[in-house]
Amino acid sequence: METLILTSAGIESTVAVAMALKNGERPYLLHFSLGRKSDINELHYVNYQSTKLRLPSKLIDLTAMQNLFSGVMEREWLFSEGDVACPSEVSFLPGLIELSILFAKQAGLEKISVGLTKEQLPKERLKSIELLQESNDLFHSKFIKVKIELPFAHQEKSEVIKLGESLKVDFQQSWSCLEGNESHCGVCQSCVSRKTAFKKAGVEDPTKYQKHSQ
Ligand SMILES: [Zn+2]
Repeated sequence: METLILTSAGIESTVAVAMALKNGERPYLLHFSLGRKSDINELHYVNYQSTKLRLPSKLIDLTAMQNLFSGVMEREWLFSEGDVACPSEVSFLPGLIELSILFAKQAGLEKISVGLTKEQLPKERLKSIELLQESNDLFHSKFIKVKIELPFAHQEKSEVIKLGESLKVDFQQSWSCLEGNESHCGVCQSCVSRKTAFKKAGVEDPTKYQKHSQ
């Protein structure tokens, strides 16, 4: 059964693609353009992966909703001090999952894969995704049911990197930075999380950073 993988070409979605390929699947890549500074870089790497691996892909353009997303993100930044993950991205994820389910139905796919890690899935978020699954099963009971999979719910980012290394993932062809520069800025929350995870994994980080936070 083919899987729809929500991807921003980050570490987790890139490893999820490699895992699906290893399992003999031909995953379908779905990317949302949210009008953020990093959009162009994410799209570049999603396109690269899709072309190189000959995988079908779809871009859903939500840039018209940019103000909504940036408004949520600003609030989340204010209330998320000290949080290791990127809660700003997680907060509107339920909406993106709903859209992905609709897209999966349209494309005849029965599974969607969301690469959230243990750090991004405290108990209450995990529960909310379970409820989202239940609600969708009930609402669409007469139609194809789409299963939401969280392949890394019990793994830390560093463990996902180790898994990726064992699958020979080329991490140079992935993107994490929240900025829209040519290379990773090295100091945003997402870059710091990427660097820290590589260090913790004991895997050489091939990323070219513009600056180093330490
Ligand atoms: Zn950055």
